[in-house]
Amino acid sequence: MDNNNFHSAAELILNSSFTSLFSGAGISVESGIPPFRGEGGIWGKYDPKYLDINFFKDKPEESWQVIREIFYDSSLNVNPNSAHNFFSRLETNGLLQVLITQNIDDLHRRSGSYNVIEIHGSVKKLICISCRLKSNFNKNIFENLPPKCSNCGSILKPDFIFFGEPLPAYEFSTAIENSKKSDLQIIVGTSGEVFPASKIPFTAKDEGAKIIEINTTRSNYTDTITDIFLEGKAGDICSRLSDLIFTENK
Ligand code: NAD
Ligand code: ZN
Repeated sequence: MDNNNFHSAAELILNSSFTSLFSGAGISVESGIPPFRGEGGIWGKYDPKYLDINFFKDKPEESWQVIREIFYDSSLNVNPNSAHNFFSRLETNGLLQVLITQNIDDLHRRSGSYNVIEIHGSVKKLICISCRLKSNFNKNIFENLPPKCSNCGSILKPDFIFFGEPLPAYEFSTAIENSKKSDLQIIVGTSGEVFPASKIPFTAKDEGAKIIEINTTRSNYTDTITDIFLEGKAGDICSRLSDLIFTENK
């Protein structure tokens, strides 16, 4: 691994005035949550139809059983890793202004990050498919699936987006605004294949941001907009950056 790249990345992080993070499933792999694509990916094991909104409305109980296995059994029993912790530490030290995540696993918040924009929603909440009332997730719902709305009796789904649903408008526009303001965006563990979320880093780049990318493999961003590519596992790369920024600069 090229030492110069690490030093340049650390310099950029220390000297930028508005830095944003754009994270995807890869950042949580070392916590034990599989990504959608690639080795050990969810789509190698499950049919994506269970996350299609029309299938869900048609067969909510069947869908819920699979969703529970994919997202709840894993995310309820795992912890943030050194990559999540690095970004919360950057934020605490004024070196990261906003975290934009495609992840729904709540691990950025659980690691202590504060200004987190969840553009795909979160496992922490449920939403009624009829009256749109939101409620907190509680694991008792698994005793009688599908859970029902206390307001109108209709079906509750997890408050993260399914195939066929639009992104939450406020979160998405705030993510774009913050990307445009950034002079540095750090992209971690995302293939850039999920549209329209995938266009967020391009917006940052268009407005002049430098791009640092961390991934185990090259992505749609690497040869198009990335300035510094740090190849490897997010946890390992972030630990090394953390040493450079917080130890060597003391
Ligand atoms: P993706 O599954 O399309 O791609 C994951 C990316 O992470 C790949 O580019 C892969 O090379 C990289 N990667 C794998 N292991 C890594 C590691 N240890 N360190 C760094 N990079 C690593 O993920 P995506 O682009 O985020 O899109 C999938 C969508 O599915 C997301 O938008 C999200 O909504 C949802 N999803 C969320 C979770 C979660 O919340 N943890 C998990 C799976 C899927
Ligand atoms: Zn309702």
